[in-house]
Amino acid sequence: MANQKDYIIATLGSHTALQILKGARDEGFKTLCICRKGEEAPYKSYGVADEIITVDDFAKDFFRIEADLIKKNAIIIPHGSFVSYIGAKKMNDVKMMHYGEKAILEWESDRIKERQWLLAAGLKMPKIFKTPEEIDRPVIVKFHGAGGGFGYFIANNTKEFHERIKAYPNNNGYVLQEYIVGVPIYTHYFYSLLTDELEIMSFDKRYESNADSIGRIAAKDQIDVGLQTSYTITGNMPLVIRESLLPQLFEMGRRVVEESRKLTKKGLYGPFCLEAILDPKLNFYTFEISARIVAGTNPYTNGSPYTWLKYNEPMSTGRRLAREIKQAIEQGRLEEVLG
Ligand code: ATP
Repeated sequence: MANQKDYIIATLGSHTALQILKGARDEGFKTLCICRKGEEAPYKSYGVADEIITVDDFAKDFFRIEADLIKKNAIIIPHGSFVSYIGAKKMNDVKMMHYGEKAILEWESDRIKERQWLLAAGLKMPKIFKTPEEIDRPVIVKFHGAGGGFGYFIANNTKEFHERIKAYPNNNGYVLQEYIVGVPIYTHYFYSLLTDELEIMSFDKRYESNADSIGRIAAKDQIDVGLQTSYTITGNMPLVIRESLLPQLFEMGRRVVEESRKLTKKGLYGPFCLEAILDPKLNFYTFEISARIVAGTNPYTNGSPYTWLKYNEPMSTGRRLAREIKQAIEQGRLEEVLG
């Protein structure tokens, strides 16, 4: 019978590594952090890693050290930075034990496939306009490859779009998405493949620069200074949602999981996040899914109000992940949760 002590939980030192490693430690695992040179300080200071491997470059060096990780019997927990450094396409080259199904990341990282998936699951999404001429309501213009939503702008109609796009002569293309006036809400789920249970772990809202500071100056000053809105993520804020919205969110998560099983062999499991705008009529318009742990769970290293209800002990998403792996090992079902 496999023993939990035979395995190491590993991740890249970034994104949600602190709670993943702390959670794994709390569940009795040995932990390993792959750090970029010069970025070890938090992982040393918070004491979450039994071992730190230092590399120059995540993308290049990961495959160089992978054989060593395999020898150590390490299980890698993919987070947003891991997927973005390795690249969705190269994820299939990862040979070591990997929590979660890789194939689903292809559906998540391709805007067209992602939309197909979420619409098939019955989620409301912002309308997409194929050409500027079709714009009949406010749209948010999202540039391809714009790190942190840099330069995204709002246009109210076709004329305004053509005026404003002139400022971006070298853009790599864009999506014209209906702009939903409402509040962004990020719902953090965990779906257990072992028990077929869907949990809502927590919620967050983001703290984005400079979008979250523009409202601090008068509209006239915003125009005079010629501000460009950017949505560079700088942090996450905890959120508790109006309780009557919870049934709907459980239902949305359940449908996304069910639909995912039609797309790939095992479908979506483990932590994921639906990113939505909630309008004043209380409609959720989902604009994105993250098919892995999101940084919005970071305010909850000690658990959220929701995990407290269920667990009566500190339960971060990182710890929940480790518990799932631990139970899979105990039940001889580790293969099932690896992908
Ligand atoms: P990605 O996560 O794919 O890199 P991004 O972070 O650059 O994308 P998004 O997450 O799509 O950009 O959006 C940036 C910000 O714009 C978010 O704060 C979100 O709340 C807001 N936003 C995105 N789409 C809409 C929309 N359709 N209506 C209103 N606000 C939106």
